[in-house]
Amino acid sequence: MRLDKLLANMDYGSRKDVKALIKKKQVTVNGTVVKNSSIHVDPEQDKVMVNGEEVIYKKYIYLMLHKPPGVISATSDEREKTVVELLSADFQHFKPFPVGRLDKDTEGLLLLTNDGELAHQLTSPNKNVGKTYYARIKGKVTEEDIETFKNGVILEDGYQSKPAELKVLSSGDISEIQVTITEGKFHQVKRMFEAVDKKVIYLKRLSMGKLELDSSLRLGEYRELKEAELKYCQ
Ligand code: URA
Repeated sequence: MRLDKLLANMDYGSRKDVKALIKKKQVTVNGTVVKNSSIHVDPEQDKVMVNGEEVIYKKYIYLMLHKPPGVISATSDEREKTVVELLSADFQHFKPFPVGRLDKDTEGLLLLTNDGELAHQLTSPNKNVGKTYYARIKGKVTEEDIETFKNGVILEDGYQSKPAELKVLSSGDISEIQVTITEGKFHQVKRMFEAVDKKVIYLKRLSMGKLELDSSLRLGEYRELKEAELKYCQ
C-alpha cells in the first residue's frame, strides 16, 4: 500500500497533508526517515512512525448504525439513498457494507463492516444468531400466534420458518410485540405476521445476538463498536 494512502486512511490528513509531513521529515519506516510519499509499505509488517508515534494500522472497521427509515441496506444504488451514504468519508474509505439487510422502512440496529468473516458469522443460518425486533402490529396478537411462532410459521410460499419467540407487550387494535428470529429471509417478520393475518406497521431491530442498539444513538447516527461489543460478535 502507498505510504501516503495509508497515512491518509489512518487520519493523518489528506494526501497533501501527508506529503507535507514527509517533507518535514516527520515520518519514518522501519527507523529510516522517508523522503518520498509514494513508496509502498506493508502495513502489517513495516513499522511506520509519525513524529515518533507508531501508526497502528486498522484494517477493519465495525460500525453500529441506528438505521433510519427511507434508506436502503446496500452499498450503492442508482436511485435510492443507501446506509453507506450516511457515513462520513473517513469511514466510507474502508468500504464497509451492511451485515444483513433491513427493509427500507425498517429502523434500528444495523452493523456495517468490511470484515467479511464477521459478517458471515452473524448472518449464516447455521449460526442461529437471534435477531430481536420491536414491532407494532395492526390487529390483536394472541396466545395462538405465540404458539404458531414457537412451532415455526408457514409462510405464503410454503416455507416453514424456524421457531421464533414472540412476546406480546400490549394487545389491542394495534398490538406491540417483541419477536426474536434466527433467520434473515426477505421481509421475514412481515411475512410471518401476514401468515397469521396481521400487518406489521412499524418495525425496529433492537439486537443481533448479544449486540444491542445503543439507545443514545438517534436515527441516522452511528459509532464504532466497543471492544466488548466486538467480542460478542466474534
Ligand atoms: N423482517 C422484515 O420483515 N423486515 C426487516 O427489515 C427485517 C426483518
